[in-house]
Amino acid sequence: MAKESANMTIAIIAHDGKKAEMVGFVKDHVELFNQKKIHLIATGTTGSHLERAGLEVEKMQSGPVGGDAQIASRMVEGKIDMVIFFRDPLGKHPHEVDVNMLMRIADVYNIPLATNPAAAKRFVDTL
Ligand code: PGA
Repeated sequence: MAKESANMTIAIIAHDGKKAEMVGFVKDHVELFNQKKIHLIATGTTGSHLERAGLEVEKMQSGPVGGDAQIASRMVEGKIDMVIFFRDPLGKHPHEVDVNMLMRIADVYNIPLATNPAAAKRFVDTL
């Protein structure tokens, strides 16, 4: 469910090797992400972590079974304003093609995409 008053949608995705770091990041910014103007969307398991951190989030499928593709589709539709992707550059991912597709779509549609915690911090500092 989208927050009715939201005027900005942020997608959050975290690879397994980066989920703990993502949770720490989100907890550090929980008040910001809880603002009524921000709607969160996430891949399935990432979304469950966000819920446990106290956030309202629209959950897609888990990444390996199409969640990244669903988020990319929303990007194509112009429904996502920013993507925060805690990528694990050292891990192997069965859905690498979907991940690459999502990043390509971000460039095609000029959607801000943070792929590491330092960039994510810079992004949220602008909100
Ligand atoms: P997950 O997917 O949040 O369902 O684990 C993330 C990903 O690996 O793309």
